[in-house]
Amino acid sequence: MLRQWRSSIGHECLPASAPEKRNNDVIHRQHFINGAWAEALGWNETTVHDSATEQAIGKVVHATEPEVDTAVAAARSAYAGWSQLPLEARAAYVRAIADRLESHAETLSSGISAETGMPIKLVRRIQVQAPISAWRSTADAAARALAETQTGHSCIARVPVGVVAAITPWNYPLHQITGKLAAALMAGCTVVLKPSELAPTAAHVLGLAIEEAALPSGVVNIVFGDGSTGESLITHPQVDMVSFTGSTSVGRHIASVAGHALKRVALELGGKSASIALPEADPTLVARHAVGSCFLNSGQTCNAITRLLVPEDQYEQYRDLLKVAAEKMTLGDPRDETTRMGPLVSHEHRERVRSFLSEAAASGLDLISGGPDAPVPGLGYFVAPTIFGRVPVHARIAREEVFGPALAVLTYTSEDEALRIANDTEYGLAAAVWGDESRAMAIAQRMRAGQVDVNGAPFNPLAPFGGFGASGMGREGGIHGIAEFTELRAIQTPPTTKS
Ligand code: NAD
Repeated sequence: MLRQWRSSIGHECLPASAPEKRNNDVIHRQHFINGAWAEALGWNETTVHDSATEQAIGKVVHATEPEVDTAVAAARSAYAGWSQLPLEARAAYVRAIADRLESHAETLSSGISAETGMPIKLVRRIQVQAPISAWRSTADAAARALAETQTGHSCIARVPVGVVAAITPWNYPLHQITGKLAAALMAGCTVVLKPSELAPTAAHVLGLAIEEAALPSGVVNIVFGDGSTGESLITHPQVDMVSFTGSTSVGRHIASVAGHALKRVALELGGKSASIALPEADPTLVARHAVGSCFLNSGQTCNAITRLLVPEDQYEQYRDLLKVAAEKMTLGDPRDETTRMGPLVSHEHRERVRSFLSEAAASGLDLISGGPDAPVPGLGYFVAPTIFGRVPVHARIAREEVFGPALAVLTYTSEDEALRIANDTEYGLAAAVWGDESRAMAIAQRMRAGQVDVNGAPFNPLAPFGGFGASGMGREGGIHGIAEFTELRAIQTPPTTKS
């Protein structure tokens, strides 16, 4: 049946680089291998949905093992030439990719907004312009990241790790691809990318941008597909490093596969990040910020602050302020420029998030706002922004990643208790502290997290991003993100003898 359907499409009339358009469906049935779009050989596919209308808007045909094999072989044969190019030549290609992405900005924005559910206004800034800037800033940072150093009679160089398998999730699709590809390319690696099957637009447009920038063939290859395509890639013997962003459970599996094969691995995984509001902090500012962070992209953000720790004697004040702030997060169509919060990515994900909320509500927690049964638009994978108060530290909603719009408010009576609660998690991706700056800094230094924001400091794309413990290993961003894709090599020359 599927075979019949496929052969009736008549794809030979289409330009090689365009996804097929048919009844509003975008069918990603080509993979970008060795500098050209190749017809997919497989029959398994995933349907991509518009998260606000629940309509099918595309299909992704999963790359098979032989296609992954061809993509890895292309990356392997491109490696010698690419890794030997002068740094400035690699930087020129990376900047050209940024320019080409910029020319596709509106296609990227509308596609990512439909797939993820994030309001288009935010997508343009956070999901499109910020990653495009990151392609450029990574090119700028490379000389510093890769500079040789001298220690005694050893010259120490950072050399590219080789062929990289990059596997990315759906929630910030271009951002996550950029964190891996721009850095790997600047380090001198070649890449096979497998983007999320739920949000393929960013990778597809990237393939077009790479083609337009005339990147040498095989330097970047893109295979679309689900976990089975990912599995073929991570187990491939010619892959030197796996750089993965996604769930902790898949990350654990990848770490074990990579460990067995002794491949390098970098893992950006989940989080359950805490914010500590010290007694002197401004509750209005903290509440507004907590709601903004937790509900950004409908809570589908790995470093979202999902636990807010407030002084016990200020709980009622925070309760009122949080309720007001959450009620301003109006739900709506992500295409509407005035929408503050859109739907979740899929039906399955909405059901998973709702089950967390139902369990928390049934356990008798103080429901400050939203909840599993709060009204939401009839169509679309919506969940109301939800806040539970006086959450005990052992509650599931205080310990597990929901990856939806759910904020847990916990109380503390001393600074030490606040720190103990904040650090009492298997994760360690992000954290925040609010209060007198020197006191907040002292607390920030005791937090077990890869990134700590003091008093609402904004995200810095040049700072290393990554986690402790179950949040993963390795860092992305700036010079540290480039260094992640290198090995160190020391070359010794005979020490000069002093006369
Ligand atoms: P996921 O783990 O289900 O999938 C991520 C990617 O891995 C997808 O491309 C998927 O197809 C692929 N995959 C699945 N099984 C695989 C296998 N066996 N081998 C190889 N690849 C496989 O995650 P998701 O649902 O796409 O994303 C949500 C998760 O990602 C959340 O847990 C979130 O916290 C995490 N995340 C972390 C960061 C970070 O930087 N730390 C950023 C964004 C998302």
